[in-house]
Amino acid sequence: MHRPEQDIMVSGVDENRGGLTPPLRIAVASGKGGTGKTTVATSLALSLAGGGPGLPPAFLDCDVEGPNAHLFLQPTFQRRQDVAIQIPRVDAAKCTACGRCAEVCEYHAIVVLGKRTLVFSQLCHGCGSCTLVCPENAISEEPHAIGVLEAGTAAYGIPFARGVLNVGEPMAAPAIRQLKHWAIPAAEAEGRVVILDAPPGTSCPVVETGRGADYLLFVTEPTPFGLHDLRLAADVAAELGIPAGVIINRDGIGDTAVDEFCADAGLPVMLRIPLERAIAEGSAQGRTLVKIHPEYALRLQAVFARISRQMAAKHAAQCNS
Ligand code: SF4
Ligand code: SF4
Repeated sequence: MHRPEQDIMVSGVDENRGGLTPPLRIAVASGKGGTGKTTVATSLALSLAGGGPGLPPAFLDCDVEGPNAHLFLQPTFQRRQDVAIQIPRVDAAKCTACGRCAEVCEYHAIVVLGKRTLVFSQLCHGCGSCTLVCPENAISEEPHAIGVLEAGTAAYGIPFARGVLNVGEPMAAPAIRQLKHWAIPAAEAEGRVVILDAPPGTSCPVVETGRGADYLLFVTEPTPFGLHDLRLAADVAAELGIPAGVIINRDGIGDTAVDEFCADAGLPVMLRIPLERAIAEGSAQGRTLVKIHPEYALRLQAVFARISRQMAAKHAAQCNS
């Protein structure tokens, strides 16, 4: 099995970083699966790892329902930790069936039926609201395991962490939140750029991945489906108030509508990756983009340099205002 660090040689573009000092968090996202998001995220990490001193990356696979970045970066895991959320447990002897807990639960995870109060753990988000409002102190909390966090070292010595939800467990957002809390502080203490590989889609898990990021990098394709999902993804960026840019994958198919939307929405197109059989076949075999085409290492370093300059300009504007 190949190791990516044996196959690419890149030179640094550190002088182009625009003066921004890590930590910097970049979430790589897409409105739907199959756009090449993980292909881009893993090769961005490898490009930075080969980009000279001062740019070491760390990688978080936040697609906890279907993590696959390990297929490209081949980490060795050294640490493991269970992920759990606190779910309510009702003491029937104290409960008066007043219904306050059910009223505050926006997920309908706790209901009062006659004189019984029932908890549906698969719906519970562990927010603790029901415990807070119970007037009888009838609710205590107990851990409910939803998955596992794993951390180790990937190619180039890149710190790699991921979350893996238990089968059938729907609570992705709490697992992502705990993954970030578990892995990011240590990475940032080492001055690393954190690359977050977001789940596909635009729902809660993507918002959770993007929350706290400095930049959202969307990977899309120039098709009507790609445009539809990019619109939704752009809404997420606006909702979070995070600057964003776009990488167009499979460039050459479809039409120019994605380009036109990006121009109208003020989303810079950072890179175009053409539709190419070698890339598609190589990705399907677990080969990284920079292994298939080493010239993409410099191109992705240039994307990072552009993001850095944009962040530095934003920071300078905030300081001057
Ligand atoms: S708020 Fe407390 S007392 Fe009221 S129904 Fe819920 S558990 Fe029972
Ligand atoms: S902890 Fe939150 S989500 Fe879970 S039952 Fe209580 S109010 Fe609902």
